Amino acid sequence: MDFQAFILEEISRKMDFLVIGRRIIKMDSYLFKTIVPFIEKHHVCNSCLGRQFGNLLTGLSNADRGSALKIFLAMEWEINHRQAKTGLSNISSLVSKDFSIGEHSVRRYFPDSEPNSLPCTICQDFLSYPFLESLAKEACDLVSAYEFSTFLVGSKFPPGIIDNEDITRSTFSFEYGESIKSDFNRELGKILSTFIPDATVDFKAPDIVFTFDLIQNSIDIKSNPLFILGRYRKLERGIPQSKWFCRKCRGVGCNHCNFTGKMYQDSVEEYATTPFFDAAKGISSKFHGSGREDIDARMLGTGRPFVIEISEPKIRNLDFKAITKQISDNSNGKVEVTIEGLTNRTKVREIKTRSSRNAKAYRAVVTLEKSLPDNHSILETITEEFTNILIQQRTPIRVAHRRADKIRTRKVSSFQIEKATKDEITVHIVCEGGLYVKELISGDQGRTQPSFSGKLGIPAVVTKLDVIEVFKSTDPI
Ligand SMILES: [Zn+2]
Ligand SMILES: [Zn+2]
Repeated sequence: MDFQAFILEEISRKMDFLVIGRRIIKMDSYLFKTIVPFIEKHHVCNSCLGRQFGNLLTGLSNADRGSALKIFLAMEWEINHRQAKTGLSNISSLVSKDFSIGEHSVRRYFPDSEPNSLPCTICQDFLSYPFLESLAKEACDLVSAYEFSTFLVGSKFPPGIIDNEDITRSTFSFEYGESIKSDFNRELGKILSTFIPDATVDFKAPDIVFTFDLIQNSIDIKSNPLFILGRYRKLERGIPQSKWFCRKCRGVGCNHCNFTGKMYQDSVEEYATTPFFDAAKGISSKFHGSGREDIDARMLGTGRPFVIEISEPKIRNLDFKAITKQISDNSNGKVEVTIEGLTNRTKVREIKTRSSRNAKAYRAVVTLEKSLPDNHSILETITEEFTNILIQQRTPIRVAHRRADKIRTRKVSSFQIEKATKDEITVHIVCEGGLYVKELISGDQGRTQPSFSGKLGIPAVVTKLDVIEVFKSTDPI
């Protein structure tokens, strides 16, 4: 660089103007000031130029922004060239695969030089339309086995590309840029939407998540779980809610379990889940009940809420009517379900925590060890005493092996005697979810206070138990 050029550059830096050929341009435009040095150093595609200003204006793609800026610069340079007949050498730095205008200008003014056809120095052409389109086509083939209506695009970029863009952004003081990943994900999402017109992008709860791994050069498809909300009724005793593996063989099959691998031959979980699992063509399933009744208790009334979760489903439009009939048929009427519809993971948490405390109504047949006194007035007293009373329950002996030992307080709202003979009483109890009803009756060797047996002064046990209602809140309403 000669002395004159050196002085000019120094002055231009201090005075904020730019010298192109013999023209001096006042650098009062933010865009001009930031783009020109960038373009001179980097060979960029439209997207990578436009993305540096991605937060400016809406309704444009970054490729649109970049193209507009390049057209503007190309015109500037052409004006300069026509007036000064020099200084247009930088037009070649505007050339990219997606900017043919630059190429035309180079061919027009510099017929001897070959336009630059190297990949974009920022994105390595990962953002070029033909590349995105080829990825979208491949993804469409891979996803063809899945039924879905919403999707989301994610990506893994080589760290070098991300770092390179970060450095570029700070070097050239770009303040309005968008990240390369969100640009890539959005543009690919747009192309996918045109290939799959029935599906739309959903950021919150997409059915399908595509992950384009540009490091491994692979496409991963994840089908998000399907959550089905319903209520079940268990019309026969002796069926556990969950599938219960054999304690001895842990599911492998042994003499103890008659080579079934299970402690009980059937369960609500299996009856309710299997037809959904088969119809949705998932890879695994989970049954989430809102609390559970004892194996020997029936679940009547409108039933107990549950959510069935199917992992990696291929089919999402399920025929609920046919499936509920199938559940009834498969269980010979032992288990019935009603389906409210599809739901989400939040509902699983809700039914497993909050709503498991919802009020329940029970009918219990209580057998007394000694006959009742002829005068039944004690039962009336107990009915009164057990209305709106708090019960302290230490974890019952029968579940102590699998539950933490603690004292819980639960409310009994009402306690009605429906029928009483000398040694058998039928009671109707409304209480808060989580109360152990059998222990409320027996007293569990003093671990439940107060108890029916304790008040009565006669040892008593529940011999039949039905849950007759699961209410929708902690109050029995
Ligand atoms: Zn690029
Ligand atoms: Zn076994």
